[in-house]
Amino acid sequence: MFNKNNIIKYSIIFWIIIVLAYITIFNRDEPETYTYNQFLEQIRNNNVEKVVLSESSKLTFKLKGKDTMVFTDNPRKESLKEELLKNNIAVEESTFSSSSAIQTALSLIFIGAMFFYFNKITNKGHEKSTMAVVNQSPHADGALVRFTDIAGNDEAKDSVSDIIDFIKFPEKYSKYGAKMPKGLIFYGPPGTGKTLMAKAIAGEAGVPFYAVSGSDFVQMYVGVGASRIRDLFKKARESEKAVIFIDEIDAIGKKRALGNSGANDERDQTLNALLTEMSGFSSSNGIIVIAATNRIDTLDEALLRPGRFDRHIEIGLPDFNARKTILSYYFKEKPIAPTVDILNIAKQTVYFSGAMLENLVNEASIFAAKAESEAIHTEHFDQAYYTIVAGSEKKDRSNIKEKDRQITAYHEAGHALVTKILLPENSVSKVTIIPSTKGIGGFSLNIPPDKMYYTKKELEAQIMVSFAGRAAEELIFGPDSITTGASNDIEKATSIVKDYITKYGMSQKTGLINTALFSSDTDIMQECAEILDMLYKESFALIKEKSHVLDKIANTLLRKESLEEEELDAIIISGNKITA
Ligand code: ADP
Ligand code: ZN
Repeated sequence: MFNKNNIIKYSIIFWIIIVLAYITIFNRDEPETYTYNQFLEQIRNNNVEKVVLSESSKLTFKLKGKDTMVFTDNPRKESLKEELLKNNIAVEESTFSSSSAIQTALSLIFIGAMFFYFNKITNKGHEKSTMAVVNQSPHADGALVRFTDIAGNDEAKDSVSDIIDFIKFPEKYSKYGAKMPKGLIFYGPPGTGKTLMAKAIAGEAGVPFYAVSGSDFVQMYVGVGASRIRDLFKKARESEKAVIFIDEIDAIGKKRALGNSGANDERDQTLNALLTEMSGFSSSNGIIVIAATNRIDTLDEALLRPGRFDRHIEIGLPDFNARKTILSYYFKEKPIAPTVDILNIAKQTVYFSGAMLENLVNEASIFAAKAESEAIHTEHFDQAYYTIVAGSEKKDRSNIKEKDRQITAYHEAGHALVTKILLPENSVSKVTIIPSTKGIGGFSLNIPPDKMYYTKKELEAQIMVSFAGRAAEELIFGPDSITTGASNDIEKATSIVKDYITKYGMSQKTGLINTALFSSDTDIMQECAEILDMLYKESFALIKEKSHVLDKIANTLLRKESLEEEELDAIIISGNKITA
């Protein structure tokens, strides 16, 4: 409600009122003031026409032939009135300056009215501006978004193709009595192209696209959200066919927390308005509502019931092939050097969303432009990759203590070594002790292969890899010198082991049960701690056994700051030869 525009508006109103108040109250003709003796002299000279007596400290009088009133001190003497009457001077009596009180009251009413009026005008303007959520041509440059603008996401495209056909030719479906969904939910991680897909549906069907975000409805006055929803649907109905897009639907459609019913009236009203509007239109119209969320499991069931958002389409992170497609889509019309290996980039970008891949290509072109390079080279992609994964490299590294560098080198060497031994399918595309501006001391970039399932052994290996940094610190510098650098590693290991027990039923002790469905349990915590402790010990033993390789990796890191996968492999192979 109080955005910048409003603040400007309200301060304009405020100043207008101040000026008006000044004009109406203070800028009346300033009355003349006589001394009491001058007043008596005027009476003697028979110049006074009328006197207004009051209880206040001043009295006013009018001179003959003049329009204005004159002030003088009020002697507050009963005899004055008789004196004046004797002199044929008209006398009026008033309670304290009744005329000015009326004027003041009128001014206040006037100011109030002005405030009300301006408020109304600006509110109208305000309402209009917040409804500027309407977007007839979804592309920034005015062109419609089409399916060809989406690289990959083939399953999702398939799942919505009939929707497009239906928006275009609703009769075709109603002839068969087929009911199309009124609402779709796109769910999946941020940046995977949910908004893009919704725009493309509108673009392909050639209908207007109306968008709002659930987060816009947070912290609004009761009733405002609901009325905005109604306005949105009204607009859509006016264009007959349309795509209505509600991003971040969870902001208004989250499950009610247990025992916390009716906690948020505004949100409930907004949600109810949405459900009412959706049940209000017939699905044969050619209006479709698309909602997007990162987490479908947190949504209120009311939203997911038949006749509401009853088709749920996952838009997930791109797999290797999709990443390749998205990369080549963004490579188009850019001077990419022929030596750039797109397969290698696609391989290194597990867990990247479409938006991140776009960003990677863009950052790389910025690095190339800065260097005034004739083309975008692999090194520019490497720089971009580092920036996206870790933040930009810290340029001034002169104040980093040698001891800290050593700790980082051993910590990262530990991660890299254990990955190479236990998870040979993973690639460790980079190990570095170059700190980033985000406060990371260094990292070992561990890229898992794209796959559907992980085995129990692999989950345990992932935990051991996470612990290998701390294990290396303890082995080399002693148990009292372990550092805070392992905090993310511990968090990661804990979350893996928790799923291992509670979701995947991999713990012998707890058995095949989804304990996540029960409320928190200290027994589970105990079980997690035991498994983690055991895996830490295994990781430590492995590092100790291979400590000569660990030394080699750490020393190379101290010398060169960064290692590529081939260099790492070479060190490990030669290290193994020595032991063999
Ligand atoms: P979401 O709504 O899932 O958070 P967006 O649709 O807003 O994601 O995606 C952000 C941007 O990322 C898009 O505008 C587009 O530029 C890019 N992008 C994401 N996925 C893809 C894709 N599959 N193909 C092409 N561009 C994509
Ligand atoms: Zn670590």
